[in-house]
Amino acid sequence: MTIDLRSDTVTLPSAAMRAAMSVAAVGDDVYGEDPTVNRLEKFAAELLGKEAAVYVATGTQSNLIALMSHCERGDEYIVGQQAHTYKYEGGGAAVLGSIQPQPLENEADGTIDLDRVAAAIKPDDSHFARTRLLALENTLGGKVLPPAYIDAAAALTRARGLAIHLDGARLFNAAIKLGIEAAAIAHAFDSVSICLSKGLGAPVGSILLGPRPLIDRARRWRKVLGGGMRQAGLMAAAGLYALENNVARLADDHANARLLAERLAAIDGVTTDPAQVQTNMVFIHVPADAAVALRAFLAQRGMMISSGATVRLVTHLDIGRDHVVAFSDAVSEFFRDVHKPAVPASAIA
Ligand SMILES: *Cc1c(COP(=O)(O)O)cnc(C)c1O
Repeated sequence: MTIDLRSDTVTLPSAAMRAAMSVAAVGDDVYGEDPTVNRLEKFAAELLGKEAAVYVATGTQSNLIALMSHCERGDEYIVGQQAHTYKYEGGGAAVLGSIQPQPLENEADGTIDLDRVAAAIKPDDSHFARTRLLALENTLGGKVLPPAYIDAAAALTRARGLAIHLDGARLFNAAIKLGIEAAAIAHAFDSVSICLSKGLGAPVGSILLGPRPLIDRARRWRKVLGGGMRQAGLMAAAGLYALENNVARLADDHANARLLAERLAAIDGVTTDPAQVQTNMVFIHVPADAAVALRAFLAQRGMMISSGATVRLVTHLDIGRDHVVAFSDAVSEFFRDVHKPAVPASAIA
């Protein structure tokens, strides 16, 4: 038994998904002639209520292409310190786009304080980079952005002449949690990036969506960045399968994450607050001197977690309720038999 809780990127394509891939009609997508890629782009655009879409290799590529399509050399985007588009993409916007990030602290709920966003927008003055874009992320660290916040952010960017981009790698997790259509969240944004290769279970692929002129520019940048793929329909078929079959079931991942948090919270040695779990991520803290041994103990049992004293556990398509039970039992066993919590000095006679 393998229980991999490091990320929802570790999902493997199911037999049904592989079957859909094996019979996909394909063509040269750089010529716009791959029927499956075209179908996926059209399906996603309709699903998210956007005019156009472009299929890309990865979420990182999708965000970078979005930034380069909104911003030119010497422009800047406002972004959260914890955002993937700022912190986890190798500085791509600056490296490849000559776009300056203006990072601001994220609040605990994943938002960026809008007064601070407003204050960070630079006046039109040759001393400053031109502020062009606000980039948000939903979900961020498993947290769902409040819809009223998104509306206020969009109103601010409209009033100040900025565009607004959503890194929606886990947009469907947010929609499922709120019980609304993903399009209702996407609506406020000029561009939206979604990942097919996270909890949706496709092996590869992301989609960038927005108005036609923006997506035309994006298609050009995709080629420039080496992302023009040929018979990509083989992979797009997996993406279509994911969007058609694996969205509603994200609710199971959320329920499993909640159960996982509740079971772990009951273990002496683990600190976590189940009430903080909104979607498919659980953050736990373990004593620093136990972290390495816990990880090794679990690895011996085919259970994989990230390293560190603060551990992010992510539920997904290949994690069932029985896995949650087996995993939390193993953690419990570790703290009972291997790393017994220290007896407080006051308790020693
Ligand atoms: C995973 C992720 C990405 C990037 O996706 P890759 O396909 O790994 O490049 C972007 N944003 C967020 C929030 C992500 O979780």
